[in-house]
Amino acid sequence: MHLTEETLAITAVAPRNFYSFTLEQLEAYLKQYGKEKFRAQQIFKWVYEQRVTNFDEMLNLSKDLRSELKNLITFDLPPVLKHLVSVDGTQKFLFDVGGGNSIEAVVIPSDDRLTLCVSSEIGCNMACKFCFTGKQKLKRRLSTEEIVGQFMIVQDSLKKTNQKLSNIVFMGMGEPLDNCDAVFGSIEVIHSPWGVNLSRKKITVSTSGLIPEMYRVANAKVRLAVSLNAYNDEVRTQVMPINKKYPLKDLLEECKRYYRATGEKITMEYVLLKGITDQISHARELYKLLKDIPCKVNIIPFNEHPGADYERPSDETVQAFHSEAMRLGLQTLLRRTMGRDIFAACGQLATKVDHPDTMDISNSKIGGTNVRSFSSGQPSL
Ligand code: SAH
Ligand code: SF4
Repeated sequence: MHLTEETLAITAVAPRNFYSFTLEQLEAYLKQYGKEKFRAQQIFKWVYEQRVTNFDEMLNLSKDLRSELKNLITFDLPPVLKHLVSVDGTQKFLFDVGGGNSIEAVVIPSDDRLTLCVSSEIGCNMACKFCFTGKQKLKRRLSTEEIVGQFMIVQDSLKKTNQKLSNIVFMGMGEPLDNCDAVFGSIEVIHSPWGVNLSRKKITVSTSGLIPEMYRVANAKVRLAVSLNAYNDEVRTQVMPINKKYPLKDLLEECKRYYRATGEKITMEYVLLKGITDQISHARELYKLLKDIPCKVNIIPFNEHPGADYERPSDETVQAFHSEAMRLGLQTLLRRTMGRDIFAACGQLATKVDHPDTMDISNSKIGGTNVRSFSSGQPSL
């Protein structure tokens, strides 16, 4: 093949990952190499509409252009190390993100939804006492392509059974507002018509309360969830050290600001820790705290993990708390815990497989372990 000077220049650069690009960014990137702007739109259509990620199949691009683009853009996605399916239909994907690190994403089915819970960081520096991820210091923040990649891999896998993700929540490993550029970059790709095209209302960012970054959730016009987890500052600081820096009064003020900007209610996540946040009197305190905040409260019974310092309350205690909160007038949601048998429930995700793949839950309400496991580095996609 005769190599032009331009081709030589192109072969010399390190290719960029497609999943990191917004439309505008790809247009600018291609422009650097003298390519027409509309090529970016064509490639986006192939990738997100047709799921074609091989330039040879992008037939509206000339042969020469296709071979040049191969040197400029890759479609690499993090390899799937494990894919586990719970007895309740929850699925967990473990991805290899290099350097001996892995991250997890979880698919949660419900009546009318298929929600993907994605990770935003490897580990987390917020060190919440009840959270397994919080026990693992931050190793690295994920890139836009690693976040979009989680979505695309899972979506491709679900396609085989004619299923489609309907929602995405940033409630996996890590604090999304500690990694704003990549998180909001991935949100742009996921909601835009030229990208995945998922409505903004189907996207939720959950935060432990990094107040200075919360305005970005409102600006992106996506849903906000706040990990409240306590009914006063004393308890919250005890279980979530970040509360020392950003106490409840300021946090709730910021929540009101979000509501004023978007008109959307906030989801307050409230983990029930036995003896610490699960008493009837705590439900009453919680009501006093939240009565003026436009929100719904998601009650989450604590999920066990290796080395946990807390216990899960009994089902009776959980019910009593829920009933009292409802009686007082809080809008509450008590969801059945999903995926406990494959360590996929809230707060059980890990950067390495430092818990067993499965847990015997035969004494619990969701039945025995009958977990389907696909492992050995071969993705079951
Ligand atoms: N870092 C973000 C998002 C990830 S955590 C945040 O904190 O909001 C997602 C949710 O899992 C949080 O609401 C957290 O309170 C909850 N969680 C963490 N550990 C848990 C555990 N062991 N049991 C139940 N919920 C837990
Ligand atoms: Fe980090 Fe959220 Fe876990 Fe707290 S609850 S340690 S912020 S992942």
